Order: sequence, then structure tokens, then C-alpha cells
Amino acid sequence: MKLSHRITHLTPSGSDGWEVFYKARAMKAAGHDITELTIGEHDIRTHPSILAAMNTAAVGGHTGYAMVPGTAELRAAVAARIQERTGVPTTAANIMITPGGQSALYTTHHAVLDDGDVALYIDPYYATYPGTIRGVGGVPRGVSASPDHGFQPQAADIAAQADDAASLLINSPNNPTGAVYSRATLDGIAQVCKDRDLWLISDEVYDTQIWEGAHISPRALPDMADRTLVVGSMSKSHAMTGSRVGWVCGPADVIEHMINLATHTTYGVPGYIQDAALFALGEGTPLETEVAAPFKRRREITEDLLAGQNVVKASPTQGAMYAMLDLRATGMSGQEFSNALLDEHHIATMPGESFGDAGAGHVRVAMTINDDRYAEALKTLMAFAAEKAG
Ligand code: PMP
Repeated sequence: MKLSHRITHLTPSGSDGWEVFYKARAMKAAGHDITELTIGEHDIRTHPSILAAMNTAAVGGHTGYAMVPGTAELRAAVAARIQERTGVPTTAANIMITPGGQSALYTTHHAVLDDGDVALYIDPYYATYPGTIRGVGGVPRGVSASPDHGFQPQAADIAAQADDAASLLINSPNNPTGAVYSRATLDGIAQVCKDRDLWLISDEVYDTQIWEGAHISPRALPDMADRTLVVGSMSKSHAMTGSRVGWVCGPADVIEHMINLATHTTYGVPGYIQDAALFALGEGTPLETEVAAPFKRRREITEDLLAGQNVVKASPTQGAMYAMLDLRATGMSGQEFSNALLDEHHIATMPGESFGDAGAGHVRVAMTINDDRYAEALKTLMAFAAEKAG
């Protein structure tokens, strides 16, 4: 039976740079002790108090169909959080609750792209971006952000690709690079969006993981609220990856269309999950700080260890749970280095190339294992790099 081109061509065939990850998993299954620095998942579980709220809601009967756009209370709480942090007037009408940030990425692109429309995204990129764009019939086009600019995208590079584009997807704090976009970068991006009439889709799922600088939501920049769709999530901020709860924030008329889409796709998010998210947001920044603390510590460990040598460079560890390590001094590709490190030292990292061409010569390490083991792995990686650099 014939399948649609859209689903069979969601992701290109051939090497996608994830071979090292699958090899590591296979080695682990075969009984090897593998240090996995690959996946962006906390090493803590969802806080017991959030689970207690979830249980209370479920036992209390919030197990039927929930409101498709999200419960009134959760939409209002998300709106209040955004208004408080950005100063942009935001109400429940600007919010739709989604099954995680990934669904929000799909929904936002669905809302702004017609078949064949070009959608820009920044390379290096989070793995699902091009496939998400293809999934709604769009044509993904990467715009490189260079390590020589600290992976901050340059407005001129975006403008050069923008002629026939309908949207631009950005992500700050960034996965995989750890960059937090500066005010200057975001001003440049906003100007291109206004000049070229682009929708801006701003993936802010790491907004609570800032180690240097400040998180600026581009929706708060002058004249941007009407053309910006913000993607948010409880996954990273509250260690709720498995609960699948996030949101889109945008103009109320766009949200209305997205609610219609949700009626025909997800039918919303379970009520007891939304109640747990509402409880978690009600705990405010102390809980967010607690969830982010291990990454903050390991980011310090990374900086301290790297300071003692000059082969491996981190660029730029400003935010998120990753360090993008520049190994160009070894003369190896990220893929070669990552493979060799796994084979010889049983440490699994993600080759920079798996996040796009702009990640070449780098590996991404996820700071998601306990501090001592993380430090040991990083020391081994650095010694290995030094050996390879000669
Ligand atoms: N955006 C980025 C940049 C991510 O790294 C992730 C998850 N790793 C997501 C979105 C999606 O997260 P979720 O669907 O769990 O909210």
C-alpha cells in the first residue's frame, strides 16, 4: 500500500549522526558500562510534590476529557508567568496548552506554513526541527550560526536566506550549543522578521537554565508580539519530560486557529497532568532553581576543568543542560572523535554534525549524570583530545 510522501520523507535517509548514540545503547545492552552524555533528560525525577498533586487530581476525578485549549486555570497561570517575566500583557486567550514543546513546535509551524513555504531555522539545531517543518508541508532551510560568533546567529545571514521564507525558528537558551542569545542578536533577528515579514517561532523551553546573561523573550521586543509565537514546556524547567505538557503563547486569533487544530489532532492534555503543571507553576522560581541546580553545578565543573588546558574549548556554556565542546584542535570531525571516545573509553557523546553542518568539529555533552562521574568523563575526554592533538 502506498504511504504519503510527507510521512516517508519526514527525515532524510542515510547517516544522521545518531549512529554513535545507537551504538552506545547497543554496547550498554550487551553489558558494557557506558557513560552516557547523550540525551537531554534530567538525572532526577519529577518532584514528589508535583506527583502528589497529579495523584490528587486523578483520584479526585479529573480524568475525563479536559478542555481542548487547556484548563482555564493553567492557561491563566502560564499567561501570568509570561507577563511577569517579559512585561508583555498576556492573558489566557494568548495561551494554548499542548502535549509538550514538541507538539507546540508542530502546531506553530502548521499555523504559519502553507505547502511548499520555506521555513528558516538556525543550524546547529535541535534534532526534530527540519522534520517538524516537513511534517506540515514546509521546506526547511538552515541558517548557520558559527562557533566563531559564539553560535549567535547573525541578522545578515538570516536576511540572505529570507527572500522566499515565511517563518524563522530560533531557540535560546540553545540546544545543542548552550548559547543564550544576546539583546543585540535578538534585536537583529527582530529587525529581519519585520523587514521580511517573517513569523518568528521562539523555542524557549530552556528559559529557566541560564548560567550567564539573561533570558530575553523576543516577543517582548518592540512590535514583535503580533508576529511571535513562543514555544514553552514544563519538561526541562520542572523535570516533567514524560508528562507531556507545554504551551504556545501568541496572538489570540492565532491561538483560536490552533485550538481548532488541537480539536482535530491531540484533543488536549489530560486534566490531571494540567493540574500537576498548575501546582508546579504555583511553586514559583524556588522549584525551578532546584531543578536547574545540578546543571548549574556541572556547568561550573566544565568551566573549571576546561580552564586547565587549551585543546578542548567550550563555546559558550551560557545556558541549557549541554556543553558544546570544540575539538577542532584535534583535527578530527565530531563524528570521528565521538566514535573513538566511545570505542576506547566507553563514553558516549553526540557528534556536533548530528545537529547540522555548523556543529562540525564539536561534540555535545549532556550534563545529565552525577557530578563525580561527569567530572571523570570530562577529564578522560580532555586527555583523549590532548593525545589526539599531539
Ligand atoms: N525544543 C528543544 C530545543 C528541545 O531540546 C526539546 C527536547 N529535548 C524540545 C523542544 C521538546 O521538548 P518537550 O516536547 O519535552 O517539551
